[in-house]
Order: sequence, then C-alpha cells, then structure tokens
Amino acid sequence: MPTRPRKTPLRKTRTRSRPSPRLARSPRSSHARPASREKWVYLFDEGRADMKDLLGGKGANLAEMVRIGLPVPPGFVVTTRACNAFLSEGSRFPEGLWAQELAALRKLEKRTGRSFGDPENALLVSCRSGAKFSMPGMMDTLLNLGLNDAVVEGLASETGDARFAQDAYRRLVQMFGTVVLGLPHEPFEQVLERYRHQRGLQNDSALPLEDLKAITEAFQSLIREKAGRDFPQDPVEQLRLATEAVFRSWKGKRAVDYRNAAGIPHDLGTAVNIVTMVFGNRGEDSGTGVVTTRNVSTGEREMEGDYLSNAQGEDVVSGARPTLRISALKELHPKLYAQLGRICQKLERHFRDVQDVEFTIEQGRLWVLQTRDAKRTAQAAVRIAVELVGERLLRREEAVLRVKPEQLDFFLHPQFAPDDKKAARERGDLLATGLNVSPGAASGVVAFDADTAERWSREEKKAVIMVRPETKPDDVHGMLAARGILTSRGGRTSHAALVARQFGKPAVVGVSEMEVDCERRQLTVAGRVLREGDTVSIDGTTGEVFAGRLETLIPDLKDPYILKLLKWADDFRELGVYANADYPRDARKARELGAEGIGLCRTEHMFFEKDRLPHVQRMILARTDAERDEALARLLPFQREDFLGLFRTMEGQPVTIRLLDPPLHEFLPNHDGLLHDVTELETRLELRKGRPGTAELEEQLARKRRMLEAVESMREANPMLGLRGVRLGIHLPSLVRMQVRAILEAACQCAREGMRVLPKIMIPLIAHSNELRVEKETLESEARAVMKEQGQKVAYQFGTMIEVPRAALTADQIAEEAEFFSFGTNDLTQTTYGISRDDAETGFLSEYLHKRILPENPFATLDQRGVGSLMELAVKLGRKTRPGLDLGICGEHGGDPKTISFCHRLGLDYVSCSPYRVPIARLAAAHAALASR
Ligand code: PEP
Ligand code: MG
Repeated sequence: MPTRPRKTPLRKTRTRSRPSPRLARSPRSSHARPASREKWVYLFDEGRADMKDLLGGKGANLAEMVRIGLPVPPGFVVTTRACNAFLSEGSRFPEGLWAQELAALRKLEKRTGRSFGDPENALLVSCRSGAKFSMPGMMDTLLNLGLNDAVVEGLASETGDARFAQDAYRRLVQMFGTVVLGLPHEPFEQVLERYRHQRGLQNDSALPLEDLKAITEAFQSLIREKAGRDFPQDPVEQLRLATEAVFRSWKGKRAVDYRNAAGIPHDLGTAVNIVTMVFGNRGEDSGTGVVTTRNVSTGEREMEGDYLSNAQGEDVVSGARPTLRISALKELHPKLYAQLGRICQKLERHFRDVQDVEFTIEQGRLWVLQTRDAKRTAQAAVRIAVELVGERLLRREEAVLRVKPEQLDFFLHPQFAPDDKKAARERGDLLATGLNVSPGAASGVVAFDADTAERWSREEKKAVIMVRPETKPDDVHGMLAARGILTSRGGRTSHAALVARQFGKPAVVGVSEMEVDCERRQLTVAGRVLREGDTVSIDGTTGEVFAGRLETLIPDLKDPYILKLLKWADDFRELGVYANADYPRDARKARELGAEGIGLCRTEHMFFEKDRLPHVQRMILARTDAERDEALARLLPFQREDFLGLFRTMEGQPVTIRLLDPPLHEFLPNHDGLLHDVTELETRLELRKGRPGTAELEEQLARKRRMLEAVESMREANPMLGLRGVRLGIHLPSLVRMQVRAILEAACQCAREGMRVLPKIMIPLIAHSNELRVEKETLESEARAVMKEQGQKVAYQFGTMIEVPRAALTADQIAEEAEFFSFGTNDLTQTTYGISRDDAETGFLSEYLHKRILPENPFATLDQRGVGSLMELAVKLGRKTRPGLDLGICGEHGGDPKTISFCHRLGLDYVSCSPYRVPIARLAAAHAALASR
C-alpha cells in the first residue's frame, strides 16, 4: 500500500464519506430490538455541563467545551442510566441502546469524514469511563478501537509511520486482553520485558517495528490461549465489548473500594465516552500533557503540570517516562503554549473553578480531551477559594462552601519539628528529596505492597509508609491505610499524587535516586538499604525523605487565606464554637483558633497532677470527716488557681466547669498491681524473718495493705455505671462544696480585679431531676456563703450534662432545675447503645464496622437515628419547660462536621470540641447554616 500521509484535519468533514461496511453487517445490530424511547446516547453537541448525572463528569464537560468553542475531538456519550440498566439487566444492553450507539457512530463517521473499520481511511475511537464524580483511574478505558490486522496496515500507509501504527495496535490488543477479557497484566508485561531486554532498552518507545509486530502477534496468541477466543477483528464488535467492559468496571473491586472511601454512592453508574482518537505520539510536533490552571499544591496563580513529547496520555499518568514541566512546552512550541494558556483561562472563568485539563498535541494541533475541577491540597483549596472571591468569580458563601471542614486538618497537620529535622540532616539521615505532592509529615514502617500496608495498619496498628515504584488503582486500599506514600517514579499528576492529595495523605513521589525492589522487599537510596519494617519519615510539604522517625509538631494557624476564610465562615454560622479545655494553655490555644468559650473543663484531669494526687487519695481514703476536710482544704488552693487561670484566659467568655465525674478508684493504684506488691512484700518479709531491717518492710506492707483494702472496698463490677458523676457528688457533698468554693472564690477575685467572668457549673451523669435538686441545694448554699465572705456578687449558671437516656426522656423535669444542658454524647452513645466505649473501639466495634453492621463509628460521628432522637426529644422537652434553655454538645462528636450539621438543625446554641478541631467546627457550622438557607 503506498504511503499516503493524512492531510485532512480531523475535524474537517469530508464531503463524501464511506460508511463502515461493518456497521450494517454487525450480527448484533441485525438483531436489534425495536428502539426504546429512552435516549441512551448523546453526541457531544447535545450535552451540557449540568448533565453530569446522566453524562458523567467527563462527558458533560466535554459537551460543555464543545458548546463554548474549544477544540475537542468529536464524540458521543452513552449515559449512566444505560450503565445502570445494563448492570441490572444481567449484563444485557437495554432496548434501543445499541441501535443508538451505532447511529451515533455513523454521525461520528460523517463528522470526521472517516469510516470505522475502513483500512484506507479508518476512524479510530477511544472508549472511556466517566462517572458523575471523578474516580481517577478506578474504572476502565480502551484506546485505539477500530484497529485490526488490515486497518493497521492502512494506518501505516496513511500516516507514513508504520511503527506508530503498529504501536497503537499493540496497545489496543494488550488493553483488550486485560480490560475486556480480564486477563492478568503480567503475561503481557513479560512479553514486552523480553523484547526490551533483548534490545537492552529501558522503555517501549524505542522498540523497532518488527518487534512491535511480533509483540502484537504474541499478545493475540496469549488472548487465544488464555481467553479461549480470538482478538476480534470486527471493530464494531470491539466497540460493543469495550462498552460492556467499561460498564462492568463500575462494579470492579477498585472502583467499589474507592467509592467506599470517598463516600460516592454506588448506584450512580458510569457513562461511556466514545471519542475520536487523536495521537500525541506522532513525532516531535506531537505530545500530551496534563495541566492544572493554578498550582494545586500551593494555590498560586500559575499554570502547572507535566508534558511529554511524542507520547500518549497513559505515559504521563503512569509515570513510566520522566515528564517535563509544562513550562518546557513554552520553549518547544510557544504558540501552542500560549493557546493552552488561553484555553485554561477560559475554562477557569467558565467553570468558576480551577481546572485539571488533559490535552494532546497531534502534529502541531492542540486538542482538549478532558477538563474537570482540579483536586487540590487543603492549602491550595483555601487560597484558591479566597482569591476567586477577589477575582469576582465567587461569592463569599460559595468560597466558604468550597472548602471542606476536614480539609482544615492540614493547617493543623503534623509537621516535623525543625530541630529534629536539622539534626537528622546533620546525621546524614536525609536520604533524598522527591516531589512534594501532598503536604504534611509522616513517619512509619516501610511496607512494599498495599496488602501489607493495610494489614500492618489495621491489624497491628502500626504507622505505615507505603513504598512503591509507582502506584496503581489496585493499591488504593493500602494507600488509604498508610500514614504516607512514597514512590520512586511518577510526577505531580501521577496516580499516587492524585490519590494522596485527595485523601490528605502526606506523599513524596518521583524519588528517582531511590531504587525500590519489591521482590527483595528493600529500597536502596543514598547508599543505604532499608528493608521492609524499617522506619522512614517523609515530608510531603518539602519532598524530603529521612531514615528513622522524626518528632512531629502541629503548626499554628497563621496562613492569611485561612484566616480570611474562617472570618467569613464566622459571619455565616449560627452555632457558637466552644472548646473542651482543662488548662489555661489549652484555653489559650482554643481562643487562638477561634473558640468563644469553654464548653467543658474536666476537673478530674487537674486531680491527676503529681502535686495533687496524694491529697486526692487522702481525701478518698479518709476515715473521718475531719481527715477528708483537711485533704480537701489542701486541694482548694490548687483548684482556685486552675479556675483563675481559665477565667483570665477566657476574659469573660463562658467557662463551663464540670464537677468531678469519674469513679474514685481511677485516682487510686490499680487493684491487681497492689495485690502483686502485697504478695511480694509478704514473701520478702517471710524470707527475712528474724533478721534485722524488717521494720521498714513491715511499714511498707501495712501501707500497701491499707490501700488494697480501700481499693477492694470500692470495687464495682461496672464502674462506669457505678459511683460516678452526680452520684459521687451526692455521696461526697464536701467535695462538691470544695469545687464550688474554688470556682466562686476565683470568680470573685476576677470580678474584684474588674474582669468579667461567666462561670457555668455543670453536673455530670444526671438521670433524675431529684439528683439535680439535691446537688443544686448543696451548691447554691456554698456559692452564697462564698459571695458573702468575699463581699462580691458574681453571676453564674447552674446546669447539667445529658448523658443517659433517662435524662433525655425527662428533660422537661430536669430543665426545671438546670439553666443549661450540654449533651455528653460520649456517655450518651455508650448508654444508649449499651456499649462500653473504653472497650468497644479497640474490640468488636471494628468488626461491626468491617462487616457493615454499623455504617459508622458511633463514637466518632453521632448516631442521629438513635442517640440523635434522644437529643431531639431532650431539646423539645427542655425548651418547653424553659424556653431560653442554653443548649450545647461537648462529647467528641462536637468536632465532627456531620454531627455539627445535625446540631445546627436541632437548634443547639453551640458545639464544643478539642482546641485543634475548633477551626473545623467553625467552618462546619458555617456550612450547616448555609445549607439550611
Ligand atoms: C461525654 O460523656 O460526652 C463527656 C463529654 O464526658 P466524658 O467524655 O468526660 O465522659
Ligand atoms: Mg461523660
């Protein structure tokens, strides 16, 4: 066949095109059932960006780009509904689909002036998955459909590049074997490796034509042998089987795992995009690349990405060949670079967000193959959202909604301690520097495959760094389980980088000097060998890789963009955000991070301090009231100082102080340990009998025995349901009086100094309003006494936690005594479920979660149906009695965005969470308020 270079540009329609002879003859098409009314297939120019449900993200955006006049290769989309129908009809095409797909193919032929299966003028297409939400690399795609033994010859003569044509065919047969027929990758890779090895080559791009021919034949034999069928020479059959394979890939394991992790519903289905092929591997004036319209690591306003000359898209994403930075395109093809810049700007303004754009240059002509909202680091997300407001592309509330509350975790993310890092460098532990593709720091043991990473992390509770040459979609479960990801290959848009950024995992990729040998389970870098299980530290913010473990620090929230975004969030939110803080240093941090009060100070934490514990124990073990009062008197000044510190730090903001809650045995030595000590001392005394120097031992033994007796007298079968909370206060009123006195004395002192104070005294674990009445009497008489002594009046509030179902069910009675409720959802979850929170989370609860008996850990995200119903009832009953009842939450759930949204809907006044979750809670509260507008 004579060489006939293709002169006609792809989009230019030829006046006369020969329809594919195979279209009419397709055996399946001749059996086509009568067309259904449902429109299963849309040409690109029939769709729009807002049709993502039906056309998937990729298809809808391709359609939109066609609408706004960007250069997109012609194509059509098979809808997500078609996919769902196929999957629910036992893998059969729904009625009318195939006829519509063939009709669209015919239109594509017309539009391109080419024919599917025509050796002299072949139309080649790709068949790409594309769900509503992007699931990078999780589903299947096939390229170069339409090639067969005859067409490859035609393409060779048409392009004058037989090697190119053969390589395209080789790729199709390989993809067909693995994707459509489900054969493993290895045998195909082994064939390629054999030929590369024979030629002493590193990659496939230099394999000569005759090798590619032999490889294609070998692949065809492999298919025959392993799949028991021939590679289909009929392009129409290829298309049908490819469409089916892409449909099926929606249900593939890696797609299902990814959806589970990303919270994407399983019933959306994928669309299938059939797109005219354009080739980036047609010589030096061709290439392919991926760019983001801004820097998605930092948010800076600069186009960023990778480019590969003379290559196809998969070469960029797989990281198989080292890419150039996109700025290299400026040197190579300045006009195309400028065109790309203009396209990026247009896309960004049109979609009002940073875009991730895939493009191909075919012999000097630029084609856009995809655009989507770019995945970005938290840092970039915040900066971009704030800057887009400045550029008048977004309103403030939209910017606030653009950043997920959990993303703020990054700003509070561990970073390596600078001193430790410096010391590690000086020790020579800095092994290499790679690409800093996902910020944050992580140390952990090296695991060389995803299963090991997952097992070590889940079952053995190890911090793991997953190390691979490059990652593949099959590795995602290991990446999710690992603390961080490290690869020797790949760029900023590699699979590893994308997935890490999305899930906020620190990641360093493309550490080219590191050799990863997964067979021998070791990596070699800078002359050092690290084996599986050795510890490594990665800094995803700088790209550094260290041997050993480094100390990590939580950074301050100083980024100007985040400060601005949080300020906007505060303007929108209706919930107050308080912090759970026990010490002035926690309170300071909480205020720095935006807390407006303390929602829970757990006073028992103060009791555990070294200088107080002996007095606490004496108080507990006291045999007379006088002994107890004396111990309490020693504790009083400590407590007063604690509260003074908190009041001063909070400067008039509410400070909620909970009276002592835990069972007293927690302040005493452990029973089994004491028993052991007593037995040991008894044995030693026995051995020394009659010898001098036993007096001291005898005294020690007597002390231990006294303690053991006391501990035994206090033992309870279920201490968490025993003498604790309000019950303890009723049992030991002098303890309540001491705590109230400390609070009021501190408050009076502040008031005297001219400072505003707002103490809120909170009683834990109430179940019956009578408990509260008794406690209130003790408390109020002591408060009155203190204020009288001090000659000072301070306003304080008296309230309770709602932590057991009975309290919620009788909240109307409880509200008669209490001025505020704070939902202690840790205990409320424990008592509603009847699950011990101390044991469950490390015990059977993980099995429950694994088996999906529970959809979420109810100690992390509030069980809205169960525990939430009790809260709802308590809110209703409480406010019926006392309309102005102040309501908050202080269990761990108070920092969880989903729970915060629920609390907003319940009409609570505030949420209280640990200081480091305060920014997340502020943003989540704004989201909740904006969502309910
Ligand atoms: C609770 O039960 O939710 C609570 C805040 O109290 P603690 O966790 O101290 O029991
Ligand atoms: Mg509690």
